[in-house]
Amino acid sequence: MVEKLIFEKSVSGRRGHYLPPLDVPACSVQEAIPAKLRRKKTPVLPQLTEVEVVRHYTRLSSLNYGVDTGFYPLGSCTMKYNPKINEDVANLAGFSQIHPDQPAESVQGALELMVKLQQYLAEIAGMDAFTLQPAAGAHGELTGLLLIRAYHAAQGEQQRDKVLIPDSAHGTNPATASLAGCQIIQIPSNGQGEVDLVALKRVVGKDTAALMLTNPNTLGLFETQIAEIAAIVHEAGGLLYYDGANMNAIMGYARPGDMGFDVVHFNLHKTFSTPHGGGGPGSGPVGVKRKLEPFLPKPVIIYDRQKQRYRFDGERPQSIGRVKAFYGNFGVLVKAFTYILMLGGKGLKEASEKAVLNANYLLKLLSQDYEQPFAGLCKHEFIVTPPKTKEGGIRTLDVAKRLLDYGFHPPTVYFPLIVAEALMIEPTETENKSTLDAFAAVMARIAQEAEENPEILHQAPHQTPLSRLDETQAARRPVLRWKAD
Ligand SMILES: *Cc1c(COP(=O)(O)O)cnc(C)c1O
Repeated sequence: MVEKLIFEKSVSGRRGHYLPPLDVPACSVQEAIPAKLRRKKTPVLPQLTEVEVVRHYTRLSSLNYGVDTGFYPLGSCTMKYNPKINEDVANLAGFSQIHPDQPAESVQGALELMVKLQQYLAEIAGMDAFTLQPAAGAHGELTGLLLIRAYHAAQGEQQRDKVLIPDSAHGTNPATASLAGCQIIQIPSNGQGEVDLVALKRVVGKDTAALMLTNPNTLGLFETQIAEIAAIVHEAGGLLYYDGANMNAIMGYARPGDMGFDVVHFNLHKTFSTPHGGGGPGSGPVGVKRKLEPFLPKPVIIYDRQKQRYRFDGERPQSIGRVKAFYGNFGVLVKAFTYILMLGGKGLKEASEKAVLNANYLLKLLSQDYEQPFAGLCKHEFIVTPPKTKEGGIRTLDVAKRLLDYGFHPPTVYFPLIVAEALMIEPTETENKSTLDAFAAVMARIAQEAEENPEILHQAPHQTPLSRLDETQAARRPVLRWKAD
């Protein structure tokens, strides 16, 4: 049954509230509001009792799926459980009740937190300096590319405007490179799912601005030739940009700075645990090697040792300027800071270890029924494709939709683009063995259904309020609000 909108439930005359009698002189609307601002028509508002409204929204909220309700193996998105202590700390009045326009003197604790977070991130990444301004990973990519362009310009090398991007990359990489005014050159992957060095060597040159790389890449594979890749790009005068969305696989084990990367972004909402299923707010801090530091967005926060005070410094002649109002999504910064302190260095390393262990355990179970396009071990995520049945015709979308009937959030589908019918699965470290076993059992059952009753997959989901949607229309012509006719 289709859920009714609250406006459709309205019954004229129902009320959920009564206003107390006026205790001030009645002043007519005519006098109080200038004529040109007055409504011509009474607004069409739903008329309902309080209990109807409460039940409506409570029911809707229970239709939602989140990491707090179940397993969420959405590859590339790192849907780990977000510890509630993060929320408690972010809600402390000293963090939640301050205003970004307050004088630095009155928010010393907040500034200290940001400076320390920058230091922690620099340590984890192997970089020299960080900015916390970017609001998401994609925003970090744009910021990083603007930094790289500013750096090349300062060297008198404005002509460097080509960005090399592997064909396994996330769509935001070419999108942001293009926004930064660069041209994109796609690098094919080799048979092992890694960057093809021969192809890379063929295209690097005097016009190379940077190579953007995700490591481990979106296939969940570590680029084993990273040292050589870095040497090839650096020798040609280009820089290396690290898309840190997959950092959850290697925290404490390897650092992009040590691999030769010059600029990195982290997705704090992924790796460092902020709820991000609904699309925000996120945070995509960018780290750089020393030679790029002068170009970082301003203002930067500095610690005045003599006065023992933090302050903003806007005197940065080479800065690319601001990339966000104020200083970034501060609440997310507090949550990431809390998460890092709660886990400590050892804990972060253990999180990555378990993320990789969980992924390999699940891959092993699933590979009994599903095809594995790249053999061997994976990092924190992996790709499988639907079983080849005797009749054929089972698509990734069928598997994903059928999972909904069994109460699981589906994995990422049809990404990365280089694997046809990809199911991209990332269990994360916060799931236990029983959850992984339960998910694998359902996947096995779906594989069996694919063989015995493929129609049930083609028609799935059967248990959700709505069955298959027209996804193109939903994306192109979304109905986001109700309008009176
Ligand atoms: C999520 C992701 C991004 C984009 O990050 P947002 O925070 O969603 O903007 C970029 N690259 C990869 C590999 C990702 O998984």
